[in-house]
Amino acid sequence: MAAVSRVATRASFVSSLARRYLSSELNSHAPPHNSAPFRVVPTRGKDQMNSHVRWVFLGCPGVGKGTYASRLSSLLGVPHIATGDLVREELASSGPLSSQLSEIVKQGQLVSDEIIINLLSKRLVAGEANGDLGFILDGFPRTIKQAEILEGVTDIDLVINLRLPENVLLEKCLGRRICNQCGGNFNVASIDIKADNGSPGIVMAPLLPPTDCITKLITRSDDTEAVVKERLRIYNELSRPVEEFYRNRGKLLEFNLPGGIPESWPKLLHALNLDDYEDKHSAAG
Ligand code: AMP
Repeated sequence: MAAVSRVATRASFVSSLARRYLSSELNSHAPPHNSAPFRVVPTRGKDQMNSHVRWVFLGCPGVGKGTYASRLSSLLGVPHIATGDLVREELASSGPLSSQLSEIVKQGQLVSDEIIINLLSKRLVAGEANGDLGFILDGFPRTIKQAEILEGVTDIDLVINLRLPENVLLEKCLGRRICNQCGGNFNVASIDIKADNGSPGIVMAPLLPPTDCITKLITRSDDTEAVVKERLRIYNELSRPVEEFYRNRGKLLEFNLPGGIPESWPKLLHALNLDDYEDKHSAAG
C-alpha cells in the first residue's frame, strides 16, 4: 500500500511540475500553492530519511554544490539531479535546443523556466522508471519563480546553502577541469587566502586528476573570468532571493565551507546529523 502511494505521488510530482509551470504562465487565477491538487507527502523519521530525502543545494557558481551533492547522493542512495548537467547533456546531444542553449550558457545567462522545467521533468520521468524515491537538486531552483513552482508540487525537506568568499569562487571556477571521458570533476587551483579584517583565511588544496584523466581534461566554456563574473552577478540578482525564500520557511541550512573537501565534508555531515551514518556505511562496506 505504502509502495503504491509512493509511486502515485512520484508520478504526480513529475506531471505536476510541468503543469505547475504552465498554470503559472497561463492562469493568473491559479489556486495558491498550498491548495495544489497534488502534494507529495514528505517521508519523515530518521530510519526512512535516507533514500527519501528531498533536498536542494543553493550557492554561487563554483562553491562546490556538485561535489557535495554527489557525495551525499552516493552516501544516501538518492539521485543527484543537477540542472546544469541536464543543460550540458542537451547541448552535447546537438538536439533542436542546442544552438539556442549554447549561446545562453556561453554568456552565463539563465535558460528560460520553460526549457529548464522541461529538462527537469524528463529527468524525473526517467528516475521514476528507475524506481527513484527522493532527490538532491543542484542548480534548481535558481529564481523565485522556479522556487514557487517547485513548492507547488512537492515539499522540500531541507535547503543547504553553501558559502565561500567571492574571490575564492572566482579562483575555483577558473581552476575547474573536467575529464571528457569519465566525467570526473577536478580543480587545479591552489587557494591560500590569508585572514583579513576579521574574515578567516581559507586554504584549499588542488583536487588533481588521476594519471588516466590528465590528457582528457577540458574546461567549461562558461568558466572564463568574464563569464564567471557575470554568473556571480546573476546569482546575486536572481538566485540570492531564493535563499531568503527558504530562510523564511525555516528550511535553510547555512554552511560556510571551512576549506577543501577534507575539512568540509566531515563538518557538513555533522551539520546534517549524518556523521554516524557515514561511519555505519564504511563499516558495512
Ligand atoms: P551550472 O552547472 O549549475 O552552473 O549551470 C550551467 C548553466 O545552465 C547555467 O549558467 C544556466 O545557463 C543553465 N542553468 C542551469 N540550471 C538552471 C536553472 N535552474 N535555471 C536557468 N538556467 C539554468
